[in-house]
Amino acid sequence: MPGVPDAFRCDTCEQDVSREAATRRGTFGDLDPEKWQSFCCPDCGRRLRTVFVALED
Ligand SMILES: [Zn+2]
Repeated sequence: MPGVPDAFRCDTCEQDVSREAATRRGTFGDLDPEKWQSFCCPDCGRRLRTVFVALED
């Protein structure tokens, strides 16, 4: 299923970060922020994954 996973894994904190808890940031470069967002760990700020969000409800 495309879209945003329910959770991300932060290897730095060794914890799972839920989709709701993750900090969303715009991406770098030329990616459209309406379509791509970076999900970051709320504790350490590590970027966990860049996700294609245009299909998100
Ligand atoms: Zn972390």
